[in-house]
Amino acid sequence: MPFVEIVELATTARRKLTAHRRLRVWEQAAGVCALCERKIDGVRERWIVEHLRALELGGTDELANMAPAHEVCARAKTRDDHRRAAQAKRQKIRHIGAGGSKRPLPFGKTSPWKRTLSGRIVPRK
Ligand SMILES: [Zn+2]
Repeated sequence: MPFVEIVELATTARRKLTAHRRLRVWEQAAGVCALCERKIDGVRERWIVEHLRALELGGTDELANMAPAHEVCARAKTRDDHRRAAQAKRQKIRHIGAGGSKRPLPFGKTSPWKRTLSGRIVPRK
């Protein structure tokens, strides 16, 4: 099993994005899409301010974590971020012991006893 680093995970609050902050995000990236790295035509193409590290994955709501992105490019990233955030939450639930089955199987992983392949019942170490 690969080693997975457990990071404290919390969703960052999203501040209101004013037109001036949108402009600063655009200018610091020179109008280049953060995801496909092509220039965004602000007149003909729809674009959004993307959080490079998603807020729900612990990213900050600061300009340093923001960049413009085509709306179509951002859609795929958002879907992937949601998937990863859901996975991280499941990991955290397991890690802090908030989960667990309400009806554990007899001799299952949570039982202090286990049944061997030969059928013997032995204490789980
Ligand atoms: Zn793009």
